[in-house]
Amino acid sequence: ATPMSIMTATGRGAQAGVLIRNAEALERFEKVDTLIVDKTGTLTEGKPKLVGVYPEPGHDEVEVLRLAASLERGSEHPLAEAIVRGAEERGVDLAKADAFEAVTGKGVKGTVDGRVVALGNVKLLTDLGLDAAELRDKADARRDNGETVMFVVVENDVAGLFSVADPVKATTPAALKELHALGFRIIMATGDNERTARAVASSLGIDEIRADVMPEDKAKIIKELQAKGHKVAMAGDGVNDAPALAQADVGIAMGTGADVAIESAGFTLVKGNLDGIVRARKLARATMRNIR
Ligand code: ADP
Ligand code: MG
Repeated sequence: ATPMSIMTATGRGAQAGVLIRNAEALERFEKVDTLIVDKTGTLTEGKPKLVGVYPEPGHDEVEVLRLAASLERGSEHPLAEAIVRGAEERGVDLAKADAFEAVTGKGVKGTVDGRVVALGNVKLLTDLGLDAAELRDKADARRDNGETVMFVVVENDVAGLFSVADPVKATTPAALKELHALGFRIIMATGDNERTARAVASSLGIDEIRADVMPEDKAKIIKELQAKGHKVAMAGDGVNDAPALAQADVGIAMGTGADVAIESAGFTLVKGNLDGIVRARKLARATMRNIR
């Protein structure tokens, strides 16, 4: 590769909001055929908002929200912020939580006012020996609307569910359409529930969905595709996405995301939207054409 053309591409990329780490990343990107995108914070705004609180019979709406939000103050997950902000907006006073524990890919646990509280997904319920059979219809209705559902457990009793909405970024639909036209197969990988993922993906022309994915599994999915001869780029924003970004032929971090994601990536999209990937692909093609 002639250094000048790479330098030109790097400069143009920077002007267009794509930081390119090195020539190798640009060269590899030209050969990529499969693009994996994280859902939360990559396709969506990543600022979920609490839109529903559904206590089970015998449980109080304000009380389940108070217990859940008191616990979530200890978590930095975007879903935790949604719960805490939702409680604050509703004027709920929070308590101090003890024995706080984050369960990766599942939720949080701890003690509030001497009561054992847990909040998270079906995997967390399963770990606790519980199920959400009675809440399934309510949960599925919210998921079909693209919302994320979390179950709250108080003293080993499922006390209710919360639903959280995270709108798709305004720039996402057009960017995905163009990426398709450029020839990428697009796969959504998310820790979120399959139904929620399906509802979000349906309007976006996503080719394939991998849902209920544990953080360490994102890198595994990429390895499997690579073993079949695919060249894979991965776009993500979270701390959990860092291993996958490092495993990908080209990792693409959202500039609005976690520092560790940015450090693991070959490209950083400064504005945090997928338009930057379209630009990067065009730059990669133009640069490699010049070099050959
Ligand atoms: P992703 O960012 O791809 O959605 P995560 O691994 O961060 O994946 O989370 C997967 C799932 O685990 C979430 O959809 C949620 O159900 C649950 N979860 C994780 N952290 C929390 C939390 N702090 N509070 C409640 N649920 C959580
Ligand atoms: Mg994310």
